[in-house]
Amino acid sequence: MARVVLEGIRKTYPNGFKAIHGVDVAIEEGEFLVLVGPSGCGKSTLLRMIAGLESITEGRLSIGDRDVNNLEPSERNIAMVFQNYALYPHMSVYKNMAYGLKIMGLPKAEIEERVKKAATILELTDEQLIRKPRQLSGGQRQRVAMGRAIVREPSVFLFDEPLSNLDAKLRVQMRLEIKTLQANLGITSIYVTHDQVEAMTLGHRLMVLNAGNVEQLGTPIELYQRPESLFVAGFIGSPAMNFAEARIDAAGKTITISGQEALPLGDGGMAEHGGKDVILGVRPEHLELVAGAPDAVPMTVTMVEQLGADTLVHGHFGESKSDLTVRLEGIRHIKGGEVLPIRVSPDHLHVFDPKTERRLS
Ligand code: ATP
Repeated sequence: MARVVLEGIRKTYPNGFKAIHGVDVAIEEGEFLVLVGPSGCGKSTLLRMIAGLESITEGRLSIGDRDVNNLEPSERNIAMVFQNYALYPHMSVYKNMAYGLKIMGLPKAEIEERVKKAATILELTDEQLIRKPRQLSGGQRQRVAMGRAIVREPSVFLFDEPLSNLDAKLRVQMRLEIKTLQANLGITSIYVTHDQVEAMTLGHRLMVLNAGNVEQLGTPIELYQRPESLFVAGFIGSPAMNFAEARIDAAGKTITISGQEALPLGDGGMAEHGGKDVILGVRPEHLELVAGAPDAVPMTVTMVEQLGADTLVHGHFGESKSDLTVRLEGIRHIKGGEVLPIRVSPDHLHVFDPKTERRLS
């Protein structure tokens, strides 16, 4: 177990492209940090710098009590699990797991002990240990890749999109296995994914990256309840948050979406932003269907998706014709063309500055 500290980490590739613009974070001993963001945001670059597979252009990286900027990957006491598993096809599962230890020069008996222990943790049978990787399922191969990381008894695990080659059902199962494994072993872990659901379910904290910048660092609940930017608000949560252009009244007590009734602002209003044009955000699960409520907004339904546990209702509301998605619990018999009274709870409004795209309240 080790603390991993990044201070002012930047990356400029040899062609001059600036991929990481300055990352500061202290990842605590035993913490599970997820780096999440869309394709090309720089998450693999950051992970590879921590692994030592990519040089650090600027900044300081320490693992435990050592500065590791100039150490080789093999000297950093880390183990990495890749998306494509990176298993040797001609070696048995046992040999794949033992290989790194052999290179390290460990005695045969210790290698055997460590491999057997990891196999037990990962529920790989003796019969599976003698197979070749191609004779295993995708999930089993991913377990072998994790086994190879575990046997090294590293102080840090690095995961680079380890589940993206698995089908949806297996991904959910392996996600749970990784979470359990990390909790049981208590090894500091850094995990890269572009999947926000995976990030939310796995991470103690998430670092959301956008074009090489840290948009926000926080627990899954902090990011969900208080996204600090439009980017994070739109990225975290499924289905995505609804947005509409709106205006706060001069006194900062209400907010109006074009052509609609003014909605009250919760928590005593936003006096300091009175008179401002803003972007209003509200999550689909924070909209209610309330017949007869005086502050309900009429929504014209265009499409309904039945998910079983929930019903997603898509449409547009009022004169503004802004798109809107509402998530209702359970099975609802709603059809396209219907007009529904929708109520927005003032406690669940997110207000952003359209210019800076930062949160205002
Ligand atoms: P993905 O999810 O698609 O893997 P990512 O968030 O992991 O994306 P990176 O692979 O870290 O993104 O790449 C970040 C940016 O740096 C991208 O714009 C990419 O094109 C660029 N980049 C990556 N490697 C190099 C390189 N060797 N030279 C120049 N630019 C690079």
